[in-house]
Amino acid sequence: MPYDDSAPQPESASSVSPDRPWFTRRSTLAVAIAAIAPLCLAGWVLVEVTTGAGADDGRPPAAAQPPAAPPSSQPRPQGSASASASASPSASASASASPGQSTAAAPAKGPLAGRTVVIDPGHNAGNFKHTSEIDKQVDIGTGRKECDTTGTTTNAGYLEADFTLDVSKRLGAILEAKGIKVVFTHQAPDRPFGPCIDERARIGNAANADAVVSVHADGVAEGNRGFHVILPAKVKGGAADTANIVGPSRELGERIAGNFTRTTGSAPSNYVGGGTGLVVRDDLGGLNLSTRPKVFIECGNMRDAKDAALLNSPEWREKAAQGIANGIVGFLGG
Ligand code: ZN
Repeated sequence: MPYDDSAPQPESASSVSPDRPWFTRRSTLAVAIAAIAPLCLAGWVLVEVTTGAGADDGRPPAAAQPPAAPPSSQPRPQGSASASASASPSASASASASPGQSTAAAPAKGPLAGRTVVIDPGHNAGNFKHTSEIDKQVDIGTGRKECDTTGTTTNAGYLEADFTLDVSKRLGAILEAKGIKVVFTHQAPDRPFGPCIDERARIGNAANADAVVSVHADGVAEGNRGFHVILPAKVKGGAADTANIVGPSRELGERIAGNFTRTTGSAPSNYVGGGTGLVVRDDLGGLNLSTRPKVFIECGNMRDAKDAALLNSPEWREKAAQGIANGIVGFLGG
């Protein structure tokens, strides 16, 4: 609604509203004329009382309005905001001024509405052009490590960073459709490189995420095939203390591994994890610094021709995203 007729409208003097009566735009002039011709004033007052001062939207005059709308802090049935706004200027002002309205109006679907998942697309395609920045050492609690790495590629040059971002976006769409709040650590090229691994962890912590998944693909010798999920080891040092997340992260990882096999048909890694598809590591800053349940998934081996063919396929990537999503949803109890 462009006007609030309970407040001064300095802009109305210069703006021309074609559907607005001339006498409300030229009220000063009308008063001047009325002072000279009392009969004109009487007629003007009659019109004002009938239509409501400054009315431009067909609202009834103030005397005809219903009792005051409930305060905006009280719950309102969905869809009532616009009705209240058109019936009451105060409701209109509070609705448009409240920053919480967009959240309140978000679709609340299913039992997972309001839960938060942080998705961390591994690496960043821009890292190749920012090697000095990503080589900078950062504190991971238990030691120091490079800010970030370039990631691997297939033999044909498909970047791991492009793969991880694609799967992450697909995963985000599936989760958001269930009403889950999704936060990405980045969506390159929204930032030229990184984030650094310590910041990736902090983003999950700051979001108070119910689950965090870092999406990757591996780059090892031909013949090594399959996926594996990396779980945080119990570590303590500096800002790293994973004692509280080791258990729930394992549950998250087991659910993702099981669902990933079901949706993609891929077998667990034949080169790590002893056929379980699960590997525990204590050297990853993104896990060590996390205070929220978190796992990495290596979706396949980009350097193996058969795995690379899968990773290259949009249809397979959708199945991969679905498998990860199903694991997360199961973990969240949805
Ligand atoms: Zn990676």
